[in-house]
Amino acid sequence: MKRTVFVVGLGLIGGSIALAIRKEHDVHIRGYDISGEQLKVALSLKVIDEATPSLREGVDGADLIIFATPVLKTEQLVQEIAQFPLKAGAIVTDVGSTKERIVNKAKHLQQKQVTFIGGHPMAGSHKSGVEAARPHLFENAFYILTSAEGTDVRAVIQLQNWLKGTKATFIELTASQHDRLAGAISHFPHVIAASLVHQIAKIEGEDPLVSRLAAGGFRDITRIASSNPTMWRDILLHNKDSLLQLLEGWSREMECVKAMIEEESGDAIFTYFQEAKDFRDGLP
Ligand code: NAD
Repeated sequence: MKRTVFVVGLGLIGGSIALAIRKEHDVHIRGYDISGEQLKVALSLKVIDEATPSLREGVDGADLIIFATPVLKTEQLVQEIAQFPLKAGAIVTDVGSTKERIVNKAKHLQQKQVTFIGGHPMAGSHKSGVEAARPHLFENAFYILTSAEGTDVRAVIQLQNWLKGTKATFIELTASQHDRLAGAISHFPHVIAASLVHQIAKIEGEDPLVSRLAAGGFRDITRIASSNPTMWRDILLHNKDSLLQLLEGWSREMECVKAMIEEESGDAIFTYFQEAKDFRDGLP
C-alpha cells in the first residue's frame, strides 16, 4: 500500500515540497487549504491526489504531515492536530521561516507517538500560490532542520529521505540559533528593503521623477520588498526579539555613518565601504 503524505497549506512552498516528494516516492498526497481555489488548482496540476475537507481527515493515517501555512497559522495548527488520532511513528514537520515558537507549540505532540522536526527550506520567491510551485525550487539551497533535544536520529534521517527530491543540503540547527541567523540574513533585510521603498514613495510625493529613475541598484536591493505581506507580517511578529536586537544594532551603525558624513571623514567612509566589500566578496 502507498504511504500517505498530508500537506497543509498548498501555496508556493507546500506545492513545491509535494512535487519534490512525488519525484522520489510512490505516494498518495493529500492536501488541505482554507482556500478552495488553491485546492482546486493543486488537484488540477496533480500536486496532490486528494483534497481533504478538514485537518482531522487529512492527518488520519498519514505517514508524513507537512505544515506549509504562514507561521502564525502553523503555530496554531501544530497544536490543533494533537487532539486528533495520529498514526504511530508518523513524522510531522513544517517549512516556516521562523522556528522557535512553532517548535515550542509542537511540544503538544510529544504525548503522541509521532516525531516533530521543524524545517525551513532556505529558498523561495516573491511569488506565492500553488501555480508558482516547482519541484526544483530548493535545489542546492540549505534546508534547515531543527529537531528538539532527544529526537531519534533515525526520524531525522527518515525525514531527509522523504525530502531528498528537493536536492537541498540539510543542516541541523537549534530553533533559537535558526531564528537569530535567519533574522540577520533574511528577515532584517526584508525590513530594510521595505523601508527603502517607503522612502522613495515619500520622495515621489514631492518629485514623481524619482520612480522613473529608480533602476539598477535600487531595484536589485529592493527586489524582496515585493514579497507576500501576510507572510512577512507573521515572520516579524514571530521573530520579535532577534529583530529588535538587530534594529538596535543597525540604528547605532547608522548613527556612526551619519557622524562620518557630518564630519566629512573620507578615510572612515572609505574603510566602511572597503570592509563591507571585502566581506561581501569573500562570501562563499
Ligand atoms: P503561500 O501564500 O504561497 O501559501 C500559503 C498557503 O497557506 C495558502 O495557499 C493559504 O491559503 C494557506 N493557508 C493559510 N492559512 C491556512 C489555514 N489556516 N489552513 C490551511 N491553509 C491555510 O505562502 P508560501 O510562500 O508557500 O509560504 C508558506 C510557508 O513557507 C510560510 O510559513 C513561510 O514562512 C515559509 N517559507 C516561505 C518562503 C518563500 O520565499 N515564500 C521560503 C521558505 C519558507
